[in-house]
Amino acid sequence: MSGVTPGAFAADRGLASCHCCGKLSPVELGRCPRCATPLHLRKPHSLTRTWALLVAAAVFYIPAMSLPVMRISGIGGGEESTILSGVVTFWQTGSYPVAIIIFTASVLIPILKVIALVWLCLAASGRASGSSRSLALTYHITELVGRWSMVDVFVVAILACLVQLGSVMTITPGPAALSFAAVVILTMFSAMSFDPRLLWDQRRNVRIPTH
Ligand SMILES: [Zn+2]
Repeated sequence: MSGVTPGAFAADRGLASCHCCGKLSPVELGRCPRCATPLHLRKPHSLTRTWALLVAAAVFYIPAMSLPVMRISGIGGGEESTILSGVVTFWQTGSYPVAIIIFTASVLIPILKVIALVWLCLAASGRASGSSRSLALTYHITELVGRWSMVDVFVVAILACLVQLGSVMTITPGPAALSFAAVVILTMFSAMSFDPRLLWDQRRNVRIPTH
């Protein structure tokens, strides 16, 4: 960007903002003088961690979608349901809002989140392009969405309660529930390990040590 004086960046002057309290201090101090949190110019090994967590999340996504997420058992026997077959059942029985919420929260959002993080990682390492504005917006949305990923778990929990109260049927979580929880947690940690400042470093063509 033009009009930016070299050395106007905190990292160029060896100043790091504390991860905990935000105080700007020289990185040589090692620890924040206010709250004693270790100081780093950038999140340590940000891209490596983000990639590793993303790959793990993508692996868990396969059993999360293909294995049964719940078992409904009653007098007449048991029935297993995957996330997708559950969505189809809700849609066919006319529970459109529930079908839409489950589909969005458990199928669409995890995929979009992984795609967004892959794009951010590629952009931060100079292998993909994008405007500063769209990259920043993508990062904000990814962060925001992470907090709502558990919506799906609540929906299943509420359904389980409703069914157990209303009849002699019982709902037990299937193996996909655990995989799904792993996807949610891994993508959450992945977004947390990503340091958005790497995007702007890449834009300025500087490499700031991340260890
Ligand atoms: Zn501090």
